[in-house]
Amino acid sequence: MSRPGARPVATARHAMDRPSPPLPDPASVTAAPPRFHLLAKPSGSTCNIDCKYCFFLSKEALYPDDRHRMSDATLEAYIRQLLESHRLPEVIVAWQGGEPTLMGVEFFRRAVALVEKHRRPGQVVQHTFQTNGIVLDDDWCAFFKEHDFLVGLSVDGPRELHDAYRVTRNGKGTFDLVMAGWSQLRRHGVRFNVLCTVNAANQAHGRRVYRFFRDELHAEWIQFIPIVERATPETLEIANLGWSERPKDKRLLYTQTGSLVTNRSVGGAQYGQFLVDVFEDWVRHDVGRVYVQLFDVTLEAYFGRYKLCIHAPTCGNGPALEHNGDLYACDHYVEPRYRLGNIHERHMLELVASPAQRKFGVDKRDTLTAQCQRCEVRPVCNGGCPKDRFATSQEGEPGHNYLCEGLFHFFTHTRPAMRHMADLFAGGRAPAEVMEWVAAEDRKRDAYGPCTCGSGRKFRFCHGTQDAVATSSAATLGA
Ligand code: SF4
Ligand code: SF4
Repeated sequence: MSRPGARPVATARHAMDRPSPPLPDPASVTAAPPRFHLLAKPSGSTCNIDCKYCFFLSKEALYPDDRHRMSDATLEAYIRQLLESHRLPEVIVAWQGGEPTLMGVEFFRRAVALVEKHRRPGQVVQHTFQTNGIVLDDDWCAFFKEHDFLVGLSVDGPRELHDAYRVTRNGKGTFDLVMAGWSQLRRHGVRFNVLCTVNAANQAHGRRVYRFFRDELHAEWIQFIPIVERATPETLEIANLGWSERPKDKRLLYTQTGSLVTNRSVGGAQYGQFLVDVFEDWVRHDVGRVYVQLFDVTLEAYFGRYKLCIHAPTCGNGPALEHNGDLYACDHYVEPRYRLGNIHERHMLELVASPAQRKFGVDKRDTLTAQCQRCEVRPVCNGGCPKDRFATSQEGEPGHNYLCEGLFHFFTHTRPAMRHMADLFAGGRAPAEVMEWVAAEDRKRDAYGPCTCGSGRKFRFCHGTQDAVATSSAATLGA
């Protein structure tokens, strides 16, 4: 039996011996993309809190009897290979978890130093860091500021919505802890964005959640991601309990299997309504001022540019690196059958260019259902993420996106405003001018008619702005 105190020494000695293969001959990796967006998980999937929907927690089971901490040898192999692999000057070094702060700030100081050691002249490196914010203090935030990290903070909305699922190991809400971390980020002037999951608890509160981020947190970058936790009839009951270790139960390893979902998962239609609820507020007040990832991505798709794998025709350029150097096809597919190899055995560029990974990427396009292929919003939706394709299409074809109803609603609902923004942009004008167009349309509306968001509420009491309501009420009275 190993003694706890002996393990770091043994691990460190072993780590120093681990090889890091040289950059392969370019002729042997012609299928490699010129850039890719790798997510590194230096502490694996371990975390210091216990969010109920976080199936990543279960991935610890992939590496039993392991400390789940990236060694210095793997850190250097990762940084060196990542920089060598990029043929475009911009490189993103993205830290993810689990919870990367578990590594301690010194680990990331070493990472920054290694970037400087291996960066080629002209390479521009952006560090990003996704965190639950629980331990952010002066040290962390001064470090982020000094090296211009872009920090993603996980928040699910105001207190009661956030605390529904984002809890400590004792089951207590983490809202106050996260807000303390957010205060530190603000105090130090660290660039941050908010990453919000859309789940069963907050799905009916899009505008409220959005306004909380905008008005209370002063967030200028916001990302929404749907919680879709798959399960089979055999695993549903235990999955509904959450993914953390339970002393008496065997922990499940989450894999992308099953066509049922947990009771924390967002509904397909509800996801679309949440996005529309946010969009209707954003398009009236905040275009050009607040960046909502999916809105930006959708506008780009009108020009045939795809900035987000989920709605791109193909994917495969977002691998995930585990703490021990194992590289997987994607952060959502950290499971044995999608392991590409280990960067101590094969260079990262070879793994990213491998036939298995290229097939993973084009399968996204080649496995679209017939319903997707003929869909009017396919050029901007592209069937969504393969991990969510476990429903059946209108014709009963398997492999259709569980979120389809909501995606279709969002993409069709936003089309007029998106086209208007695209026309403005193509004409050399600011997309933000769309707000004037929306205001003009609003002035023609009946303030007591149904709101444009489809909530069923009167426009005046939903997304109607005060100006528009005043004008349209006068028009109604005048008539
Ligand atoms: S599987 Fe989904 S999240 Fe992963 S790279 Fe493909 S589209 Fe992106
Ligand atoms: S909206 Fe639905 S049918 Fe259309 S491309 Fe997206 S997933 Fe496919």
